[in-house]
Amino acid sequence: MEIILAKNIGFCFGVKRAMDLVTAHLNKSKEPVYTLGPLIHNPQVMEKLEKENLVCVSKIEQIKKRGKVFIRSHGVPREILTKLKRKKLKIIDATCPYVKRIQHLVNNLAKKNYTIIIFGKRNHPEVEALVSYAQGKAKVIEKVEDLTRQISGANKKIGLVAQTTQATEDFQKIISFFQSPLFQNKEVKIYNTLCPTTKKRQTEAEKIARETDLVFVIGGKNSSNTTRLAEICSRYQRNTFHIETAEEIDLKNFKRKTKIGIITGASTPEWIIKEVVERVKKSILGG
Ligand code: SF4
Repeated sequence: MEIILAKNIGFCFGVKRAMDLVTAHLNKSKEPVYTLGPLIHNPQVMEKLEKENLVCVSKIEQIKKRGKVFIRSHGVPREILTKLKRKKLKIIDATCPYVKRIQHLVNNLAKKNYTIIIFGKRNHPEVEALVSYAQGKAKVIEKVEDLTRQISGANKKIGLVAQTTQATEDFQKIISFFQSPLFQNKEVKIYNTLCPTTKKRQTEAEKIARETDLVFVIGGKNSSNTTRLAEICSRYQRNTFHIETAEEIDLKNFKRKTKIGIITGASTPEWIIKEVVERVKKSILGG
């Protein structure tokens, strides 16, 4: 029996940066420290941070006192940023630089009057923020199948970007669509904005899912990149389980499985990974 632990695990660069920033401020701040929406999409980490006095609110109106407010790694819509500035709150921007880059791209394309196609989940905070930077010129595509309907009425100039955590394979299909003869009379600018960490993890997830008998994908159920990893794994391995903690592991029916893969999302902390590995060892290997 064998456990295959992915090489690319735990916090990604953007999440680590946000966590380092928040920890430093929580340690030294005498004022309240807020985050508008969960700082990262991992409920267990958020619970821990809230115990350390981070105040998570869903609306600006819930911020009563002066203090510091964190912009999470997914970024926030422009109008929210303006409201926060008006409230005279000290803003600590933990937007991941990869996300920031797309915001700038979208903003510049909008200024030059491009129709901006954003491939991503409409209700995800990263996409909501990108839409705000497009100044009414964005069309969000959630599925490849939506393409034809969505691009009707697009400008002669089209800019294509993707939410950082979308699946590489799906984005490639969208790129191919825009490179087809249908667009020969249009000016199409394509930006591959998938985050490099996400791409690496997706490639590794596919490999592990193909090589193992069962896969655990650890991460928040509200985490877009973890959900995507679980979707990719389930394409190649029907015994794929998206879990948040070790308590969810039930291997009663899988005692005879010999190779177990463990993959994590970009906001999964080390302590949860260790607990999962230990529990798998105990359940399957009797170690
Ligand atoms: S997954 Fe990529 S884009 Fe998202 S926070 Fe991490 S490094 Fe940034």
